[in-house]
Amino acid sequence: MRKKYSLFKAARCSITKHNYKVSHVVNERVHEMCCSKCGKQITTTIYGKIVPLNDLHSQINKALNDMARKRQKAGLPISYS
Ligand SMILES: [Zn+2]
Repeated sequence: MRKKYSLFKAARCSITKHNYKVSHVVNERVHEMCCSKCGKQITTTIYGKIVPLNDLHSQINKALNDMARKRQKAGLPISYS
């Protein structure tokens, strides 16, 4: 699903709006999304904010995914509240 980010296509997206589709579900709150037209990637944080997917947020999402998988394996509920 990951496409190479294109600056030219991103300029076109700035006029016609991005078309984000969920590319990876980390947990019930955090989703990684990718624009189907230009390949720009964004993610939602655990606080509900939408931010560009950079190395920092990619590592955070990977850690959250590992934690959710371990909790699920141990039979514990996955909740962050
Ligand atoms: Zn786009």
